Amino acid sequence: MGNDEAQPDARGAVNRTDSDRRNSRRAFLRTTSAGVTSVALAGTVTASAASAQQAAPAAAPQGAPPASAAALAWAVTPACSGQETPDSIEGPLFKPASPERGDVVTPGTQGVRIDLAGVVYDTACTPLPDTLIEFWQCDQNGDYDTSGFGLRGHQYTNNRGAFLLRTIIPRDYWGRWGQRAPHIHTRVQAPGSPLLVTQLYFPDDTKAYGRDFAALNAADRLLNRACTIALTTRPGGAYSGTFDFVLKTTS
Ligand code: FE
Repeated sequence: MGNDEAQPDARGAVNRTDSDRRNSRRAFLRTTSAGVTSVALAGTVTASAASAQQAAPAAAPQGAPPASAAALAWAVTPACSGQETPDSIEGPLFKPASPERGDVVTPGTQGVRIDLAGVVYDTACTPLPDTLIEFWQCDQNGDYDTSGFGLRGHQYTNNRGAFLLRTIIPRDYWGRWGQRAPHIHTRVQAPGSPLLVTQLYFPDDTKAYGRDFAALNAADRLLNRACTIALTTRPGGAYSGTFDFVLKTTS
């Protein structure tokens, strides 16, 4: 029996209240804007939510060193390839009725923080607002919260098709499919469109929990490199990540 079939652990459920919902919605809106700005200013990211901000000029902050032409070109290059995001198995541990929130880190959860931003597009690279995204994952020990909703949540993309997930990098575990590299499970569905179920992975040079991500990625037979999150480091060992989904919108 592996972690995908693990018994529920002792962590408590997160009660969803109206106040929580309002707060998480406000936090989502606030952090989405801030996250996109920081991504654009960093000038080092790959495909990112910045592509949803193309209407906004990529202005440099006052006093900042001039960005190179290459960096500016990179920052405003449309991220969407039009290539449909590959699907994957759902696994047995999805739980419906998760809280609506962008930050899925609950008290008691330790781990390497990551803010994951991105845009959901259709295959014509049109952003898809109001797209439902469910995220669920294991914690820093490789355990899923099956009794509550720790590291689980859902959200809707904003009017530019953008989302922001605040979470931790999950740990690898041994499950029914053998050695699993760290991954985040997702279900993505635009209004009236087919459901995409897939899993997101981390680059080989990711630093978390002293684990060898290159070896873990190589050993995972479910892994699809097309579903790798692009990472940039933040002070204190945290990460910012970007991943854009591309959905088929006709059955
Ligand atoms: Fe899993």
